[in-house]
Amino acid sequence: MEINPFEIVQKQIDVVLEEISLDPNTGQFLRRIERSLIVSIPIMMDDGKMKIFEGYRVHHSTIRGPGKGGIRYSPHVNLDEVKALATWMTWKTSLLNLPLGGAKGGICVDPMKLSKRELERLTRRYTAEIINIIGPDIDIPAPDMNTNAQVMAWIMDVYSMQKGRTIPGVVTGKPIEIGGSVGRESATGMGMFYVLQASCNKLDIDLKSMRIIIQGFGNVGGWIANILYENGSKILAVSDISGGIFSENGLNIKELLEWRNQGKLLKDFQKNNHKHITNEELLTQECDVLIPAALENQITEINADKINCKIVLEGANGPTTPDADKILYNKGIYVIPDILANSGGVCVSYFEYIQDIHSYFWDLDRVNQELKKIIVDAFESVYSVSKERNLPLRTAAYIIALSRVAKAIELRGIFP
Ligand code: GLU
Repeated sequence: MEINPFEIVQKQIDVVLEEISLDPNTGQFLRRIERSLIVSIPIMMDDGKMKIFEGYRVHHSTIRGPGKGGIRYSPHVNLDEVKALATWMTWKTSLLNLPLGGAKGGICVDPMKLSKRELERLTRRYTAEIINIIGPDIDIPAPDMNTNAQVMAWIMDVYSMQKGRTIPGVVTGKPIEIGGSVGRESATGMGMFYVLQASCNKLDIDLKSMRIIIQGFGNVGGWIANILYENGSKILAVSDISGGIFSENGLNIKELLEWRNQGKLLKDFQKNNHKHITNEELLTQECDVLIPAALENQITEINADKINCKIVLEGANGPTTPDADKILYNKGIYVIPDILANSGGVCVSYFEYIQDIHSYFWDLDRVNQELKKIIVDAFESVYSVSKERNLPLRTAAYIIALSRVAKAIELRGIFP
């Protein structure tokens, strides 16, 4: 069953509009995408043949500031997915009260099938195609699934060349050497850790004694696995696109990260008392904290009833469908929603943007301290709204995020 993520976005907005009274005009505004650009990206492949890929850049809202959000390279990418991801970015930046909007981009491509030179040509041509709708005060891209600091460096180069001067603030998640921020790469994982710590304090549970399962072992899954492992928690299972690896006694995350960094898949990792499981099996194993950190629509009405944990910490964007959300809530599972849980990435992107503007760079302690303050404050606000109104954390987070955007719409009014 194909689930359209943009339909899910609409359903999530409906849930919030039932809770807060909004001018219906403002409600309509929140649902709509400001602008979507679809581009064809022709590139010369290494074998001399031309291929044309399809790319997207979508601004859901720039009402509170420039658009902000990643660019993903994946064969799953399509316009509705990018529209959904752009909308979630608006809620994320609003929830943290950053002066930014929400945007997203992507190319429908399997990057594993491209050489590094093909990837560079693809990125450069994509940037040229979207150049009129990006920029430090328009929309600031960042890494997302299968993109990284090197990809950001190419985007910054094309943009800067076109404008005739170096403009680091056009993207975040850049290499440190050309205006990136320390702590940006680990930021999503660090933010998840701070929010999980704050939740464990409220629930009066000891994070170190938690048994953790993580779906995904890329930038988000890999960092949170490493941070929790170093903190002393037991990681029972992790997975990548090839499937999952499980050990009742806990995995050695350092060893697995080394394996991953050599470009190897988890399905090929062999060790005593370690068993291979599928990504679907991984989600329903018994544990304390389940961390979906891969794609959207992983916990659905089909498997929600079998989820067997105390806490779901959403590292991915949109991993739980609204129907599954209800099931988890009724089972008493504490779901820490994506727009809060994984917002550390965009938070440190904002710090990077500020550092670029000021040409003054912070140290790691400052980055992590300021991240912790912003994300824990956001958690506290979400937690108190959820207690006051007896609502799931997701609905509480959405109430805060949507209300701020709604206020901006009301204050600015409709042009002309
Ligand atoms: N791609 C990340 C996200 O989904 C980060 C976006 C950003 O830093 O702008 O939140």
